[in-house]
Amino acid sequence: MVNTISLLGSTGSIGRQTLDVCREQGIKVAALTARSSIDLLEQQAREFRPQLVAVNDLEPALELARRLKGLDIEVVYGLEGLRRAASMRSSEGVVTAVVGMAALWPTMAAIEAGKRVAFANKETLVCAGELVMETAKRYGAEIIPVDSEHSAIFQCLQGSRDRGEIKKLILTCSGGPFFGLSREEVGRKTKADALRHPNWNMGEKITIDCATLMNKGLEFIEAMRLFRVTPEQVEVVIHRQSIIHSMVEFQDGAVLAQMGTPDMRLPIRYALTYPDRRKSELPELDLLKCPPLTFAPPDLEAFPCLKMAMECAQIGGTSCTVLNSANEAAVELFRQDRIAFGQIPDLVAEALDKIPNVSHPAMEEILETDRRARECVAEAVK
Ligand code: NAD
Ligand code: MG
Repeated sequence: MVNTISLLGSTGSIGRQTLDVCREQGIKVAALTARSSIDLLEQQAREFRPQLVAVNDLEPALELARRLKGLDIEVVYGLEGLRRAASMRSSEGVVTAVVGMAALWPTMAAIEAGKRVAFANKETLVCAGELVMETAKRYGAEIIPVDSEHSAIFQCLQGSRDRGEIKKLILTCSGGPFFGLSREEVGRKTKADALRHPNWNMGEKITIDCATLMNKGLEFIEAMRLFRVTPEQVEVVIHRQSIIHSMVEFQDGAVLAQMGTPDMRLPIRYALTYPDRRKSELPELDLLKCPPLTFAPPDLEAFPCLKMAMECAQIGGTSCTVLNSANEAAVELFRQDRIAFGQIPDLVAEALDKIPNVSHPAMEEILETDRRARECVAEAVK
């Protein structure tokens, strides 16, 4: 259990739910960070009284400092501010609830400071997963997944002492809002359609990733990195009800599943209270009122993003970085109404075609690939 945390990305969906868990469990907050929403950040700072608050830019930082005057809270800005928040001496744990590759530097700072990292941000594990996991091992930092599927797997693995016992990880996938449609039908969907997720209420970027199934593709790679398994040992199964959050099949044929009502506060709470389980106010799972649990294979023709991610999982190296960063850039263009939904996979495919792969990349190669993938998407839509 951690008693004090730094929360990176406190104004987002995971960030706000993390603060719910802090209220519920009496966990203290030493640092809060957000890109720009200073109204909410001010409220959070007044309630949790952190030592440090970090925002991206100087102007909002000055405004926030003015508003928090007299409260003994230091307000900082920029990348250095994020890094300081991630490595605060008083924090035992760091929750990475920032969206996108922007979380890479602060996550590395948290790891190098030997913190428990409650890992919500999947993009960094896709872009730089091998490096992140190696560095965590070197510095003795605990990496605990927050993503619901990976938390489910982590929970199912608690009774297992040897990774060799794992036969397969079974990632469940809701199928998203466009389940059952053809590639053409999916390609014509609008932003309003894509932002309507059947079972979860999340930030916009991940909600769009759920609609293309890129989210499951990113999670496929995330699972390989976190649990050190091969792509052949990861399977994706469509499970519309989101009651089973994922499963582990062991060598002896036993399959363990973690079930529950879909609520991110459960995996967040577990990442902070681990190895303990604490009481919560979460609505109970009533099996007698549950819809029937169904399972189906994913349609890789209708959802090419998942297929590309599985291919990148096989190739490894910077192909995973290209996949992620081209997707981040394409999703951003879609959010700005500059491209159609169906162009997201096309732009990712083009970047994967154009940018050569580097295996076992160092940090500089990962950052350079990230830059090139974004540039490639920008060029393609010019
Ligand atoms: P969100 O958009 O709701 O919130 C993102 C947070 O990060 C905000 O506080 C924002 O201010 C901050 N931020 C955004 N860009 C930044 C930048 N460039 N620099 C610094 N801070 C920045 O996102 P979310 O839905 O909470 O998702 C956060 C992460 O958790 C993502 O990686 C997502 O894939 C993962 N995740 C989310 C859920 C969910 O239910 N929302 C579930 C599983 C995993
Ligand atoms: Mg997930």
